[in-house]
Amino acid sequence: MNRPRILAHLSARTAVFTSALLSSALLTTTLLTTALLTTAPFTHAQGAPAQTLVIHAGELLATPGKKPEKEQTLVVVDGRISQVLDGYQQPAGTADARVIDLKDRFVMPGLMDMHVHLQGELGPNGDSEDLKFSDELLQMRSLMFALRTLNAGFTTVRDAGSKSQEMYALRDAINRGWIDGPRIIAAGGVGITGGHNDVSGMKHELLELYTDKSICDGPYDCRRATRDAIKYGADLIKITSTGGVLTDRDTGTGQQMEMDELDEVVRAAHRMGRKVASHAHQEDGIVAALKAGVDSIEHGTYTGPEAIKLFKSSGAYLVPTLLAGDTVKTMAETSDFLSPAIKEKAIRVGNDMKDNFGRAYKAGVKVAYGTDSGVSAHGDNAKEAVLMKQAGMSAMDVLVSATVSAADLIDMSDSLGTLEVGKQADIVAYSASPLDNIEELLDVDFVMKGGKVFKQK
Ligand SMILES: [Zn+2]
Repeated sequence: MNRPRILAHLSARTAVFTSALLSSALLTTTLLTTALLTTAPFTHAQGAPAQTLVIHAGELLATPGKKPEKEQTLVVVDGRISQVLDGYQQPAGTADARVIDLKDRFVMPGLMDMHVHLQGELGPNGDSEDLKFSDELLQMRSLMFALRTLNAGFTTVRDAGSKSQEMYALRDAINRGWIDGPRIIAAGGVGITGGHNDVSGMKHELLELYTDKSICDGPYDCRRATRDAIKYGADLIKITSTGGVLTDRDTGTGQQMEMDELDEVVRAAHRMGRKVASHAHQEDGIVAALKAGVDSIEHGTYTGPEAIKLFKSSGAYLVPTLLAGDTVKTMAETSDFLSPAIKEKAIRVGNDMKDNFGRAYKAGVKVAYGTDSGVSAHGDNAKEAVLMKQAGMSAMDVLVSATVSAADLIDMSDSLGTLEVGKQADIVAYSASPLDNIEELLDVDFVMKGGKVFKQK
């Protein structure tokens, strides 16, 4: 039997086996449900008792962009918001519910970071760790970084590039409740040979060893790589239309992917319901990616007038990652572990990012919050907010970018981004209002994700 026939044979067998399993599972569920319904009227269909929580919030910003309200009550049932009420209340049917007292706190939706790399952290030992640490050990470290992120008040993150299978596994394990961490929207990378997504800075045998199927050249190969990423579990496609700071080659920060490659990736991704995020620094690459129809530009350092026009006509988001610019600039100036090629780019990009972002924001470009954590330390994600404020963004718009806008970017506005009835109970609280002092975000007192409390000071 040739290989395709074996595969067809196997999948036919699998289908029969699966349907047998499904029908026996259905039978068991039906029996269980019947038993539970007859003996325990107050349980839900799944058999688990409804868990109700009542939260008293001193000040509640239920919908960032609108005015916060004083003295509010949130009722959470099975991880979702079921009521939002004026005053401190204990509504009927919640007599046995746990009451969480946040009367002296500012309460808002969990923060969302649209650009992290949970699998690493830039530092002087990065190269040796890459060689010494097993993938399994690295995955254990990713768990730690994920938990730090959640404890910093970030209940949802978009991982913009890690070893993809490991990130999908981390995402799925968190979603199943096996381990604690933020909700992860995980990207599959597609990049060109020698480009910013490709490996660099190693001897050629290692470069060959580490080059994977996500690297493509020409439109058809990049179409293949895009479909490949989706096949193996990507929630979105991450491309790099320009060079990048941390590529260890002096290949610049200008456009690298050709228009036909960009067009093909976006078309293939959108056909399968996946968004595309493009890393881009120089304006030529920002413009090319926007013309191809990407959904967000990451970094967007040199967003100029032409790019601004395209941002506004396409509705794409800018994910500014000012913290990454700030971090690499400081590292380049104060340490010796970055190569000369990287240092030059780090100082230039780091110097230009904040002012250019301020101009793009004032021109009305849509902004979604993103830090590039992994360049900066995981858990420091709120520092981006301080930099955004310094660049001229209003505190309210910073909060909107990390909630309502981020949820829109990942198409999850129906469940995330605000604290409205029916949405996930992803809730954070601070000792004072970040609208008055953005630095409050650096010290979160309370973190709940999906109705589960992870942190309470
Ligand atoms: Zn990044």
